[in-house]
Amino acid sequence: MLTKDNVAIGIEWRFGPDWPGQRCGAKTRRGTACQRPANKKNGRCRLHGGASTGARTEEGLARISAANLRHGKFTKDKLEKRRGNAAKGREILAELRQMERELIAGGLLDKHWRDSFPS
Ligand SMILES: [Zn+2]
Repeated sequence: MLTKDNVAIGIEWRFGPDWPGQRCGAKTRRGTACQRPANKKNGRCRLHGGASTGARTEEGLARISAANLRHGKFTKDKLEKRRGNAAKGREILAELRQMERELIAGGLLDKHWRDSFPS
């Protein structure tokens, strides 16, 4: 705050030049050290702290997972189950085709037996 004669000019600023706390100190575009007050966690201000690196603890990761889960349709266990069912279905279909081929070859089934079935 400037004082001119007996008048104070400007507003009192909490983090003014006389503030005793820790400064950010990052290099600004002007080339000088940043004078904003530093965060306790990383020693930089909110402009120079950098991006978040995400959750690290087990609890934090679980919280993010729970927040992003909508219906569980694509969770690992459900996907695995669907893949297993599809594989089982393919196996059964292959077995049926094999049986059909054998029956036709053995003369027990007409080659065009599907045509005699109403659709
Ligand atoms: Zn800064």
